[in-house]
Amino acid sequence: MSSAEWEAVVGLEVHAHLKTLTKMFCRCELEYGAAENTRTCPVCLAHPGALPVPNGRAIEMTILLGLALDCEIAEHAVFDRKNYFYPDLPKGYQISQYEAPLCGPGRFLLPTADGEREIGIVRAHLEEDAAKTVHSGGATGRSVGADYSLVDFNRGGTPLLEIVGAPDLRSAEEATWFLRLLRQTIVDLGISDADMEKGTLRADVNVSVRQRGEQGFRPRWEIKNMNSFRFIGRAIEAAFRQQVEAHEAGEEVVQSTYDYDDHTDRLTVHRSKEEADDYRYFPEPDLVPVEPPAELVERLRAEVPERPADRIRRLADELGFAPAAELVTTGNEWKAEALAAEGVEWKAAAAIAMNRGGFLPENAGALARIVQANVTREALDEAFAAAAEGPIEADDYLARTALGDEDELVPVIDAVLAAHPEQVETYRGGKEGVLGFLVGQVMRETQGNADPKVVNRLLAERLRRE
Ligand code: ZN
Ligand code: MN
Repeated sequence: MSSAEWEAVVGLEVHAHLKTLTKMFCRCELEYGAAENTRTCPVCLAHPGALPVPNGRAIEMTILLGLALDCEIAEHAVFDRKNYFYPDLPKGYQISQYEAPLCGPGRFLLPTADGEREIGIVRAHLEEDAAKTVHSGGATGRSVGADYSLVDFNRGGTPLLEIVGAPDLRSAEEATWFLRLLRQTIVDLGISDADMEKGTLRADVNVSVRQRGEQGFRPRWEIKNMNSFRFIGRAIEAAFRQQVEAHEAGEEVVQSTYDYDDHTDRLTVHRSKEEADDYRYFPEPDLVPVEPPAELVERLRAEVPERPADRIRRLADELGFAPAAELVTTGNEWKAEALAAEGVEWKAAAAIAMNRGGFLPENAGALARIVQANVTREALDEAFAAAAEGPIEADDYLARTALGDEDELVPVIDAVLAAHPEQVETYRGGKEGVLGFLVGQVMRETQGNADPKVVNRLLAERLRRE
């Protein structure tokens, strides 16, 4: 049996830090990079008698996300205690949500080059992050045999959104594409920076395999706390290979937590207790249930901006799928749209947005006029540089039109051809790529003022002669 008959079954669980001003259950400031243990209080340090008060904005942000993922928004949601011991968890439990999360089942319509795939969303809920343990004795912070560890409680109590996706993803590529768009959705809602490098977005990846056409699921491997798109993709591919190998060899595939080692490109079993975790969840007695009023949900629904997946579908009609996907996942689509709205042809607008990003929205109109006029490359460069700094006037650039006059260009072109007989011969020998070099020479001779389109045409015409 070949691996072509197997498919991957992937589900993602994503954690994102919410961008609130203060923590989830106390009024400590959230400030990335603040000095250790300077953003703490009796509540987030679990002093006796301290009581949690939920952050209303975090609840609204979770509902916003739920609405963007077509989730059912709970009329009655409950916070629960998830009990476990770890030094970065001073209460001995995490406040999370278990049986009654804020957001119930939803779906994500994933645009792809071959149409659309529906990826289920199981739930999304709100919880608090643990503090940060810093293992001493080694630059990696993970050294074996260190004498002690330190805890920074600044992060403890940060509002954390958890999104649980259904095991509907079928390849590493599809899983990372889904995660990219889910991330962009979160960012566009303004509820999180969702920055993997800063740890404000983390993903747990569940992978199993099955034969095509097979129903049901085989045992899965879980890889926790991944913080790079590239490693997530590679870990899924490695898990797929190793599981197929094991199934084909008749070996047992054991459901467990695994670690991915990028040096060996293999997964190994994470050292852990063999028992299934039992967190003894129970409703948090210090908090009342959350019952979001219908008016609040409707107000938030009106705040949800166009979703990136919808934007890709819309732009793909103009541009094709791949350029639309690239524009949207790099956050450059509004620039292309602003230029297109001013009459710039879509493909040109997309190219400009990708290559000359950074201009202020208010300059789109002026830039569109300049782009469509036949100005010199230098004028164009200056216009785009100035457009990133402040408002520009199109008229300041429109007079600097490119040299397109044939009578002026032909003598320059003939001189360039005469000076480069080898390249001329190469071109006539069939290597037309050399044309770019000759165009470059003409542009140099004209201090960048020639119109490259006209130069291209004149050069090609003259090279074809004789
Ligand atoms: Zn606090
Ligand atoms: Mn969680």
